[in-house]
Amino acid sequence: MTKTGLTRRHVLASAAALPLAAATTGAARAAAPMMGVASTRFNRVKLGSFEVTTILAGTRTVPEPQNIFGMNVSAEAFAEASQAAHIPTDAAQFFFTPTLVNTGNELVLFDTGLNAEGTTAAIEQAGYTADQVDVVVITHMHGDHIGGLMAGDMPTFPNARYVTGSKEFDAWAAMDNDGFNTKVRPLAEQMTMLDEGGSVASGITAMAAFGHTPGHMTYMLESEGKQNDHARRGRQRRLGHHRHGRFRPHPRPHDLHAGKRRQTAPRRR
Ligand SMILES: [Zn+2]
Repeated sequence: MTKTGLTRRHVLASAAALPLAAATTGAARAAAPMMGVASTRFNRVKLGSFEVTTILAGTRTVPEPQNIFGMNVSAEAFAEASQAAHIPTDAAQFFFTPTLVNTGNELVLFDTGLNAEGTTAAIEQAGYTADQVDVVVITHMHGDHIGGLMAGDMPTFPNARYVTGSKEFDAWAAMDNDGFNTKVRPLAEQMTMLDEGGSVASGITAMAAFGHTPGHMTYMLESEGKQNDHARRGRQRRLGHHRHGRFRPHPRPHDLHAGKRRQTAPRRR
């Protein structure tokens, strides 16, 4: 007998059984509930012996995206690029994704999202707890990176040490900034300041990426001869960079001088 014959006979047998099955299940089952829009809560990859987990700590819709992105192009060019990417021109969806790196010796959290609740919940969805975090690295001090450092008056990560860039710390310490005063200042005594090339832990190295903020740092991950892909490609896309829902999350340095000048001073985001 040919393969086709078998298949055909199978199909015929199934078809014969169908009306009864359909009648039974149709009567017993309600329509599946509508679930609403959803996103992946976390993603985990291996990098050498490291495990790297990005966690979705929150999202936010921001109006008038061209006040933030694509400032050096015309409204028409912005609309055209947005349309090609199937994203709206009147709003941008921001995704706040801190990153956890488990080196095997330490659990390192890069940035803390908008608030303690969202980030703690996201950490738990990825299988960890806030008190397992050994090191918190702050790449830069915008509100969506420092917001989860403190839960009210209490540190969100009770067992962690803290690391940040010295230039970034000094820049914000010199301003009268609410976020810095309530989230960073209470932990300042416990913070280690790094400069270019400074080490967070074995295999995690700071690299200067100034511009988005005065002292923004990104981090190179290296384990067993592997490096984070983004680090190899250039300074724009290493750890510590936002993942906003836009075609160009942040301007490259040369964009700062093109067209409408982008604000280089820290701004809340
Ligand atoms: Zn930022």
